[in-house]
Amino acid sequence: MPAEFVKALPILQKIRNSGYEAYFVGGSVRDVLLSRHIHDVDIATSAYPAETKQIFEHTIDIGIEHGTVLVLEEGGEYEVTTFRTEDVYVDYRRPSHVNFVRKLSEDLLRRDFTINAFALADDGEVIDLHGGLADLEARILRAVGNPTERFNEDALRIMRGLRFAAILNFDLESTTFASMKDHAHLLSKISIERIFIELDKLLTADFWQKGFRELLAIEAYPYLPGFSDKTALTHLLALPSDFKFTTAVQAWGYLAHQLGYSDGKFLLKKWKVSREFSTAVSKFLTAYDKRLKGDFSSEDLYNLGKSSLTLVEEMFAAQNLETNFEQISALDAQLQIRNKKEIAVSAGQIMTEFGIQPGPQIGQLFHQIELEIVKGHLQNTPQHIFNYVKKTLREL
Ligand code: ATP
Ligand code: MG
Repeated sequence: MPAEFVKALPILQKIRNSGYEAYFVGGSVRDVLLSRHIHDVDIATSAYPAETKQIFEHTIDIGIEHGTVLVLEEGGEYEVTTFRTEDVYVDYRRPSHVNFVRKLSEDLLRRDFTINAFALADDGEVIDLHGGLADLEARILRAVGNPTERFNEDALRIMRGLRFAAILNFDLESTTFASMKDHAHLLSKISIERIFIELDKLLTADFWQKGFRELLAIEAYPYLPGFSDKTALTHLLALPSDFKFTTAVQAWGYLAHQLGYSDGKFLLKKWKVSREFSTAVSKFLTAYDKRLKGDFSSEDLYNLGKSSLTLVEEMFAAQNLETNFEQISALDAQLQIRNKKEIAVSAGQIMTEFGIQPGPQIGQLFHQIELEIVKGHLQNTPQHIFNYVKKTLREL
């Protein structure tokens, strides 16, 4: 058993000593069986939330209506969730009601894929009621139970399936695939933020091309905002088969470029992403367009940042186009300032020194100084800047 589980064993044992069942469940069990790194250990139990809270001294109600109690023990935080079943999914995404149950088998039945439906007992036994071990071995993603029902209940599972294919390099089992295709239209009922999370994980996964190819194959793309152009999307798969995106910004930026957006904000507004992410993607796109027209300038580096330029250059490399990483490094080494605040004198100091009144003139002048410094035409010292101002005012 890996260290993360060993550390959490006392929690399972405490629950069992109180007369209930408890197991490790979910993605961490799958990842351990695949010898992959695990990030969060989830625990499922027959104890009802109120009962779990009685067992442990420190708990936090984080989703008690869904049966989840956060247990703080052994120097860690563990989500302990009561075995549950889910009632009819009224709006294709959220169960109208969850029922707490005492049987592990009922809980495992509600899970999405067989490889996500294991339970691991404290003695190391893997409980595999849906053939997950065989599917792990065969590297197959198969819906638990009847796929039609499962995707009809919750269409987000379609995106999750594509995401797991991309992360694990697993194939979609044929009836699961067919059912994902049949229900892809239900993605339009799912909140865009949740779809984004899955697609983002897909694009930055090691085997993203696999997930993306399946996304096209099940014809899910027409239900993703801004993604209707299949030809443009297919271009993404022209990248070398071992190519991986360095960051999500690069992935979404390149995608937006293929889809013909010159400003990423138009695409990303539809996806309701954070302003920061949208700005970063827009910078990538601006950099990409500039690079298509020629080499980067020091102004590009200053305005768009080294990271956008490097991400663009990496995409050029991936397409076997001529690259210019050295030029970016050289520009970066020469750049005297990274932002306005690094200018050796403030606008206020210039106003005092030259008796300039507040107004548009000082703004313009200061911007001009900034540009000259960025271009390397003006040294960033008070003396050089004051001389420059003197000269400029004289010429007016
Ligand atoms: P990750 O490695 O990304 O954490 P995970 O499989 O642990 O992957 P989670 O979203 O953390 O995914 O969910 C934990 C478990 O809960 C899953 O393994 C699965 O058993 C179940 N689960 C999560 N979301 C769904 C869903 N939409 N439908 C059915 N079961 C789900
Ligand atoms: Mg998880």
